[in-house]
Amino acid sequence: MTRKQKKILIRIIVSTVLLAVLMTLEKLGILEKLPFSRWTSLALYLVPYIVIGYDILRKAFKGIIKGQVMDESFLMAVATIGAFALAEYEEGAAVMLFYQIGELFQSVAVGKSRRNISELMDIRPDYANKEMDGKLEKVDPDEVAIGDVIVIQPGEKVPLDGIVLEGASSVDTKALTGESVPRSIKEGEEIISGCINLTGILRIQVTKEFGESTVSKILELVENASSRKSKSENFISRFAKVYTPVVCISALVLAVCPPVVRILMKAAEGPMWGAWVLRGLTFLVISCPCALVISIPLSFFAGIGAASHAGILVKGSNYLERLAGTKIAVFDKTGTITKGEFAVESVHHNTAEDKEILRLAAYAECASSHPIAISLRTHYGKEIDRNAVTNYEAISGEGIVADIEGKKVAVGNEKLMQRVGAEAISCSHTGTIVHVAVDGKYEGHILITDGLKEGSKQAISDLKRAGLKKLVMLTGDAKKVGEAVAKEVGMTDVYTELLPGDKVQEVEKLIAEKSEKETLLFVGDGINDAPVLTRADVGVAMGALGADAAIEAADVVLMDDDLRKLVTGIRISKKTLRIVYENIVLALLVKLICLVFGAIGYANMWWAIFADVGVMILAVCNSIRALRVPKN
Ligand code: ADP
Ligand code: MG
Repeated sequence: MTRKQKKILIRIIVSTVLLAVLMTLEKLGILEKLPFSRWTSLALYLVPYIVIGYDILRKAFKGIIKGQVMDESFLMAVATIGAFALAEYEEGAAVMLFYQIGELFQSVAVGKSRRNISELMDIRPDYANKEMDGKLEKVDPDEVAIGDVIVIQPGEKVPLDGIVLEGASSVDTKALTGESVPRSIKEGEEIISGCINLTGILRIQVTKEFGESTVSKILELVENASSRKSKSENFISRFAKVYTPVVCISALVLAVCPPVVRILMKAAEGPMWGAWVLRGLTFLVISCPCALVISIPLSFFAGIGAASHAGILVKGSNYLERLAGTKIAVFDKTGTITKGEFAVESVHHNTAEDKEILRLAAYAECASSHPIAISLRTHYGKEIDRNAVTNYEAISGEGIVADIEGKKVAVGNEKLMQRVGAEAISCSHTGTIVHVAVDGKYEGHILITDGLKEGSKQAISDLKRAGLKKLVMLTGDAKKVGEAVAKEVGMTDVYTELLPGDKVQEVEKLIAEKSEKETLLFVGDGINDAPVLTRADVGVAMGALGADAAIEAADVVLMDDDLRKLVTGIRISKKTLRIVYENIVLALLVKLICLVFGAIGYANMWWAIFADVGVMILAVCNSIRALRVPKN
């Protein structure tokens, strides 16, 4: 509990005790016997009332001065002062007391889920051990520059992204990915901030400033998530804006009209002013919309927390809400369904030596971040002299053309061969084919293959079970490969040989065909599919551990490479929405019943307190359930 919460708790206890004593004295008939009993009781009851309510009264007063009268403090102030004016002291003090109990409860709940998220996201490093003149110095992560060397001891958090210069270890990425199995890491590999070094000592050369590091990016994302409101949240705030004045006017009408009518009709029967005003006030307390205003954002907040716990970053409540309605999922192939790590199988139809073809390919790919390029470079294994490569041009969805040692080299697919005027020979094997042409003459092709990602198949069948009706794979790769992969994992549709622009068009077509309520998801690895990520209803990027472009363009980021997380995300979304609906129904139903009873004079202030604070507490408890990740 924070100090502020403790203070309110003390006020609650003090005022509860005072109120209980007064109520007992009243029951025993002692209050009546005091001199000026009406005024003394008023004064006595005002003590617990002021103790518990002074800040609410102050807020209400300030609101009135500023002209913003329709908030909860105003409702509470009017209702309780009104009750006192009608000599309903007990009720007046009790309404304020329970209102404060509800407020305290809510602030503890919000604090709990906030803490929960920051604990899960307990990745903010406090310091970095910077190496300076051979000595280690503890500095703020902000003070470390690109190129500096830092050392991470076992048990410490990795403060900045970098490359391991020395050492081998295993790292715990649980806070980032929700995955509890440690990963091993060794010299030459990239390491990202936010994971915890477990076993060995690591010397790391920093590659990004703190503000650009994975940790900062993620924290920023989580902190901003609640500012993108879901439809339900927007609905509730619009609803409250209309609802509160309507309620206030109804209460006024209820308090004033019946007695006026009675006076006009000169009727002798029925309750007088006081009773009707009290009914109006009861009505006011019952209809206070705080249960909804509070519990709905809290549910989304908790849902986003649950998702980040599972290694799924959701950039806003609106995206969490849309996930539940997912009916169509569209996937990129390379790096999403398949590993994106191609193995070189063989070189065909070449006159030059295999080695030379592979060398040319690796040189041409010297600057590309495409999985094919990385694989070819890795296969080549030797240092690439970048000065030997000039006029480099990457043609998205086709390949690379560049001048190497005075020759015009083209490395890519059949479309690229057509572009440079070389006659490509197709391959009888299934796999991705990288054609190579030199000075417009065909020089053969490299057959490379890429395995399915572990979990792809499972994820697709889980998605089908979760009620998705269309699972589409888009790829720039050849028809043969694309169709083989799609069939193996169980896609319902596949489109092949697409340029990045064609992918956007396909997605737009699919969006046009579906209904407004259904959500189209696009899942990609962020490499050359950023336009599609932004076009889809919800863009999901895979394996954010590293790819900045993906974090930027996507609405949802799966922190590790596991497609099965997608189903978990959809489950969390559905659960959150269910909780939101439960709360809406609960609150409106209870309030409606109490309002009807209140209007006919059957429900008293105690009912009103339940309808307001009781329902709010129930709704908040329900919201907190969204923090738990549902099982797949
Ligand atoms: P995917 O849809 O499978 O992710 P891309 O759109 O990234 O595929 O690429 C489509 C095709 O374009 C690849 O299958 C490959 O034939 C060719 N290609 C793209 N970039 C390169 C590159 N850097 N080197 C060689 N071929 C490439
Ligand atoms: Mg791709």
